[in-house]
Amino acid sequence: MNPSQPERVARDILVVGSVALDSVRTPFGMAEEALGGSASYFSFSAGHYAPVRLVAVVGEDFPAVHREAFERRSVDLSGLETAPGRTFRWRGEYHIELGHAHTLETQLNVFSDFHPRLADVHRRCAFVFLANIDPDLQLEVLAQTRGARLAVSDTMNYWIARKADRVIEVLRRVDVALLNEEEARALSGETQLVRAAQRLIDLGARAVIVKKGEHGALYRSAEELFVTPAYPVSGLQDPTGAGDSFAGGFLGWLARSGRTDPQALRQAMACGSAMASLAIEAFSPARLMDAGTAEITERVRAIHRMTSFELESLFD
Ligand code: AMP
Repeated sequence: MNPSQPERVARDILVVGSVALDSVRTPFGMAEEALGGSASYFSFSAGHYAPVRLVAVVGEDFPAVHREAFERRSVDLSGLETAPGRTFRWRGEYHIELGHAHTLETQLNVFSDFHPRLADVHRRCAFVFLANIDPDLQLEVLAQTRGARLAVSDTMNYWIARKADRVIEVLRRVDVALLNEEEARALSGETQLVRAAQRLIDLGARAVIVKKGEHGALYRSAEELFVTPAYPVSGLQDPTGAGDSFAGGFLGWLARSGRTDPQALRQAMACGSAMASLAIEAFSPARLMDAGTAEITERVRAIHRMTSFELESLFD
């Protein structure tokens, strides 16, 4: 077997990203040093659909209770390194418009010296999610997972402000790049989102998903344009992690179904919306941890009901 092209495990998803202690304030409450991080939200979301293998680093101060929470959801932590030092910390707040996080503090801590070294079990995952993290680390992961069936990336304005050219390099090498509207505007230089998505395709992205918070998400590739609404949530607590949870539902469904055709992508967008709606109903990934299959299925069905209408009789 050629080690750079290992045989893939069809349903397994590799996620590399941040595992963090988040301090967040929203108009509805606050949390101090709660479990957070892009890879955490993704894992608790995608884990409802397919096996997830997490690669990240935490410090010696990372509470055992969080590790146990991952294990309870059967997330494979063999790639979660513990390094001397402190765990990554993020402090942010949301104002009443809730559209985007205002970062108050980012402490990279153990992530400053982290270089993911993937074991065979990680390289063999058919699906790869490069959660929000330094784009140089995302490129290091891509170099080790060449030939994966589907690779998807996410990012954040923090990295666009510091390493836009590397973020674009990632976007060129993955199959789908996820961005929220603010990030899509910042990276493309376009204000209108349809144009921003087009500009990112022109820059070399194969497909982009622009996440628009309570206004849903837009998928754009050279061939496809598809939109999904957000599931209407009335008990929003904390928007943190909505994007990563969307990604978890999206990639989770593709891995579970084993399909990447246009219809599956549309289904995956609906699964993404359903998972994002759960994430924001609590601080930390708490709702994702305890949601049941029936509840998730009902949200996907509701999204379908909200978006389908009879076309035939309309033009009689
Ligand atoms: P989202 O709300 O989906 O954009 O993701 C929020 C998560 O990203 C939080 O739980 C943070 O811990 C994490 N995060 C914030 N800033 C960064 C950063 N610069 N690099 C990696 N992860 C970050």
